[in-house]
Amino acid sequence: MRQIIIIGSGPAGYTAAIYASRANLAPLLIASSVEAGGELMKTTEVDNFPGFAQGIQGPELMMQMQAQAERFGTEIVLDDVVSLELEGQVKRVTLGNGDVHEALAVIFATGSAYRTLGLEDETRLSGHGVSWCATCDGFFFRQKTIAVVGGGDSAMEEATFLTRFADKVYVIHRKDSLRASKAMQDRAFADPKIEFLWNKTVEHIYGDELVTGVGLVDTVDGTETTLDLSGVFVAIGADPRTHLVHGQLDLNPDGTIAVAGRSSKTNLPGVFAAGDVIDPTYRQAVTAAGSGTVAALDAEHYLAALPKDLVAAATQPEPAATLA
Ligand code: NDP
Repeated sequence: MRQIIIIGSGPAGYTAAIYASRANLAPLLIASSVEAGGELMKTTEVDNFPGFAQGIQGPELMMQMQAQAERFGTEIVLDDVVSLELEGQVKRVTLGNGDVHEALAVIFATGSAYRTLGLEDETRLSGHGVSWCATCDGFFFRQKTIAVVGGGDSAMEEATFLTRFADKVYVIHRKDSLRASKAMQDRAFADPKIEFLWNKTVEHIYGDELVTGVGLVDTVDGTETTLDLSGVFVAIGADPRTHLVHGQLDLNPDGTIAVAGRSSKTNLPGVFAAGDVIDPTYRQAVTAAGSGTVAALDAEHYLAALPKDLVAAATQPEPAATLA
């Protein structure tokens, strides 16, 4: 049995691991089989993480966080959690490979998952012209005409990035104004390759093998149009990943996990939540990192208050590095 298991490997999970391992709690971090490192693995320049005056690539930032967590004794497992038993003093975490890990405390930091448009053809043509990741797939659209759907920071970031490859990038937005920050809007407006299509929803995605176009409906007058293009990037936000804790942890009406006040404490003793999975508003790498810190400190205080024999029963390997 462990003292603490951390589920999730974005900025919240790794920061919680850095703090927990420096507190000599020898955490086990479950990092996911295919998405280790979280959303920043799909980003390019990160210019707003303090401490990197010239910016840093998203994947590099996550590798640094991982290395920092490992330096103090975090053990990382690349697998998916398939089920959780969070009630009771000993928590059980079952992985896709069948392993079951036990711990006295769990930090849940699973982030959020991309929203979909909900169209049948979106699923069918996923990977064949429909994408949720410009940095992953942008390269395939050199000299093509493509579209980004959405009006937030993600859509602006994707559209701007995609102009490196595509000849033309439409931004299709259901309203006539953007939700994105002014800086991101200004950058997109100034880009000659980007054209905005306002008050439009995507009702169809056309194409047999590959995307060939989209069908749009005007939200003001209902007119239908088609647009020929080779790719559709969906950037309409994300929802907290909570399916593993349904029925166990209380959720807020917006779908995030409910925590007490500014803490990371869920409705179950010994279970803490951090990062995008509790945050419907800020959702920045740096706020997620701060949230991971809160969770690690809350977990540390929780463990310190447990009966000593119980904590002693939880294995505590030697830390991998001398603590500063
Ligand atoms: P947001 O929730 O901010 O924006 C989602 C956008 O998609 C909105 O414009 C919304 O429209 C639209 N939308 C939602 N659902 C649909 C739908 N079914 N069909 C069509 N359009 C839809 O999500 P983001 O991913 O853009 O950003 C999330 C958070 O991450 C924000 O806090 C953002 O600031 C942050 N972020 C920061 C970045 C940075 O600083 N570099 C980069 C990327 C994200 P409507 O406006 O009508 O609701």
